[in-house]
Amino acid sequence: METLAENIQRIQGSIHAAAARAGRDPAAIELVTVSKTVGAERVREAFAAGLRHFGENRAQELAAKVRALGDLAIEWHFVGHLQTNKVRQVMPPARLIHSVDRVGLAEKIDRRAAPGQQSILIQVNTTGEESKSGIAPGELPALLDACAELPHLTVDGLMTIGPLTGDAALIRAAFRRLRALRDQEAARGRPRAPLKHLSMGMTGDYEIAIEEGATMLRIGTAIFGARN
Ligand SMILES: *Cc1c(COP(=O)(O)O)cnc(C)c1O
Repeated sequence: METLAENIQRIQGSIHAAAARAGRDPAAIELVTVSKTVGAERVREAFAAGLRHFGENRAQELAAKVRALGDLAIEWHFVGHLQTNKVRQVMPPARLIHSVDRVGLAEKIDRRAAPGQQSILIQVNTTGEESKSGIAPGELPALLDACAELPHLTVDGLMTIGPLTGDAALIRAAFRRLRALRDQEAARGRPRAPLKHLSMGMTGDYEIAIEEGATMLRIGTAIFGARN
C-alpha cells in the first residue's frame, strides 16, 4: 500500500503534467483535498505532507474536524449539498462554499456573513441528471442577478460535478459547458461576481478538468484511498 505522502506526490506530479500538456501554469490550479469520512489524524498527516486546502461535504463533520484540527492553518472548503438550517455550522469556518444552488441559501449565507464577506461558488448541474444538486444552466443568470443584490456575498466562480461515466467525451462536454457559462456570465460584469474560479475535477476526471480550465480540483480517493 502506498503511503499518504506518496499519493500526494503522485497526484501533484500528475497535476503538473496535465497542466504542462494543456499549456497552463500549475500554480493557477488549487488542489482541494476532500477529507469526508477520513479521520482527523489522517488529515493531520496530509497537512504535515504539505496540503493546506481541505473540503468537507457535511456540516457536522466539518465542525468536528475544525474542533479536532483547530491548531492547524487549514483553509476549509464546503463542497456538499448545504441545507439552509446548517449554514451557521459552516460559517465560519468555510473560506469558500462551493455548492450554492438556490436564492434562499444565498440569502441565508449573506445574512450570516454580515458585516463581513463570504466567498461562494454557484454549483451548476451541467449534466441534467435529476439526482444531482446544482442549478440548471438556464437558471444561472437569474441566480447571479439575485446574488448581486446581496452585499455580503462574493461570487468567485462556478462548480460542477462531472457525469459518473467512463465516457471522456461526456465528461469533457460537462466541463466545457461550465467554462462557457462562466465566460458568458463574467462578461456581464455584475458587482462582486468576478467568477474567476472553475471548481471541477475529482479523482476520476481531474486531468480532463485541467485541460478544460479548472482552477480548483476536489480530490479525495486518489489521496486518502477508497472510502468505506
Ligand atoms: C467526494 C467528493 C469529491 C471527491 O471525490 P473523489 O472521487 O473521492 O476524488 C469531490 N467533490 C464533491 C462534491 C464530493 O462530494
